[in-house]
Amino acid sequence: MTRTVLVTGGGTGIGRAVAARFAASGAVVHITGRRAEALASAADELGPSVRPLVCDATDPGQVSAALAGLAGPIDVLVNNAGGNTDFDLSEPDGLAGVLEHWRANLDANLISAVLTTTAAGDKLADGGSVIHIGSIAADEGAGSYGAAKAGLASWNVDLARQLGARGITTNVVAPGYIRETEFFRDKLPADRAEKLIGATSTGRAGLPGDIAETVYFLASAEARHITGQTLGVNGGAHPTR
Ligand code: NDP
Repeated sequence: MTRTVLVTGGGTGIGRAVAARFAASGAVVHITGRRAEALASAADELGPSVRPLVCDATDPGQVSAALAGLAGPIDVLVNNAGGNTDFDLSEPDGLAGVLEHWRANLDANLISAVLTTTAAGDKLADGGSVIHIGSIAADEGAGSYGAAKAGLASWNVDLARQLGARGITTNVVAPGYIRETEFFRDKLPADRAEKLIGATSTGRAGLPGDIAETVYFLASAEARHITGQTLGVNGGAHPTR
């Protein structure tokens, strides 16, 4: 059976790799983002089963319209849209600036997933999968960005209980440092990258494909008893018991 997959932020980086992985399995994959050009070029490269859809995941009107226009059922929802919005803002100016920074990260990384999942609602296929892209920052700390990703993981626990009766699993994949994405803009100094790699046990940066394969597994028939979890994919940079 052909699966229908929705990947928010699917035009670049991790989301694009996730879209490519599901498309390779024969799924129809809808990819969203705010930049029409980035989506169009990803869809061109990945083939006709990948469908671009411009949608700002933090805007309730755009999210409602996008989901209303999608034919259900949605077998797999990947809430990947996000990133550290501090990279795009100037230093906070006073308390109002602090508020702006915090709201931007909470909107981009937590509210985006809440809105998309809620709007998907009954269109999520019974027995389907929801996967959120979290971050190692939720455990290692990174200001409002880490706090937003920690909030996402906490909400995921509640969501698993809500969706469990329908056989829908919901999990967080929390990457460590992943190369070949637009996440750091051009603002990651070489010595910082080296430090991030040095913190791993594998001695390398992660790649978008590492995350895509993990997401693909969590959406598989073999992973139906895994729900309410956060799974780190970080080369051991944040070990757990
Ligand atoms: P990218 O910047 O390449 O990808 C982020 C994607 O999300 C872009 O395609 C962007 O497109 C889209 N996006 C951002 N905000 C919105 C929005 N409001 N509505 C719709 N789409 C949006 O970086 P990554 O691939 O690295 O990031 C993917 C996820 O992985 C993020 O959630 C990030 O926090 C997480 N992550 C990344 C890590 C890394 O080291 N790279 C580490 C840990 C977590 P557009 O701008 O066109 O909207």
